[in-house]
Amino acid sequence: MLVRLSPAVPQKTRGNAAVAVHTDIDADRAFEIAVGVVEELAVVDDEGTHPGVVVAPGVPEELSSRVSAFTRQAVREPVRLADAVSLVDRCGFRSAGWKSGRGRIGALAAVGATAAFADSTVECIAYREPGRWGTPREVGVESVFEAAEYGYPGAWDTVDRGEREAVCVPHTPGPVLYGIRGDDPAVVRGVADRIECEPVAHREVFVTNQGTDAHLQPGVVGRLVDGRAYRVIGTVVGAPETRRGGHVFFRIADGDAAVGCVAFEPTKRFRDRVRALRVGDRVTVCGEVGAGSVKLEKFAVRALCRTERVVPVCGACGRRMESAGAGQGYRCRSCRTYRPAKATRVVGRDLEIGWYEVPPCARRHIAKPLVRGGFDAPVHPER
Ligand code: ZN
Repeated sequence: MLVRLSPAVPQKTRGNAAVAVHTDIDADRAFEIAVGVVEELAVVDDEGTHPGVVVAPGVPEELSSRVSAFTRQAVREPVRLADAVSLVDRCGFRSAGWKSGRGRIGALAAVGATAAFADSTVECIAYREPGRWGTPREVGVESVFEAAEYGYPGAWDTVDRGEREAVCVPHTPGPVLYGIRGDDPAVVRGVADRIECEPVAHREVFVTNQGTDAHLQPGVVGRLVDGRAYRVIGTVVGAPETRRGGHVFFRIADGDAAVGCVAFEPTKRFRDRVRALRVGDRVTVCGEVGAGSVKLEKFAVRALCRTERVVPVCGACGRRMESAGAGQGYRCRSCRTYRPAKATRVVGRDLEIGWYEVPPCARRHIAKPLVRGGFDAPVHPER
């Protein structure tokens, strides 16, 4: 099982992933093998690398509920190494750590992952031959797009059609050639089979918590904590504004409290959906809170404000009326007509009720694509 932990943890290594291997060999032998693999493969010279191993005897579904509670915590917020180590000791698990041994947090979280989450997805990962690591990947992009078409929607985030990008092929110099994500093991394998590429050293299908929104918790404006990710309900009170770098900002409020929301430039066409919001719209926003702002991954339009208040037009001559002074209504200078207040005008909207999301090229590992379903409103999936 491949587990993604909180994407907001600063000490994370890249995607903040941990792996659990389920096996029927005895715990001592498993420990010996796992330690040997880390000794052989971990790049401990890297200052950010602090590996850890935890071996738990027993059936994954039947471990102490304290372990799965720890897993859920590690996906949603920073956790302390000391807490992981003491839980490992209390449960009688075996563990090993290199350097700070912080990797034991992820290792313990991976042990508890099977019981921690109701939802899961799969990823078929193809690995490169070691001699090719660090060299450009040879993958036929057209075959990837055709394979993605074949697999959708059982496999998702294989490509980004809007950006014409093969999202499943990483850019970093690691051993992964590509990773096909989806809901159905047979479909992700089928997509992998259709990709024309360099020789694959080996291929594995992992069960994962990717694409599940396991990191999100219910939140309330005014009570959000940096480094955690939330679903938050509010009303747009500050109109969307595109700032330097192409990032789009707006504000939502709930009662007296308000919070900023931001769609960053890499979220591409998602920003057009955000720019279409208007003051008065009722929304649910989802994302991690950093520096006091919600970094948007998706949002739902709950209610659209379909009218605006405008300076009235004279009924006699059709010209815009003028203010008769603060709080004193409007009048037409030529016709002497009078209106006591602004008029209401219907505005056309480019948004519909329901969920909007960042495109596949900007998806975080753990964020749930709309195409997976199970949302509380209509969805407008990106692909
Ligand atoms: Zn007039």
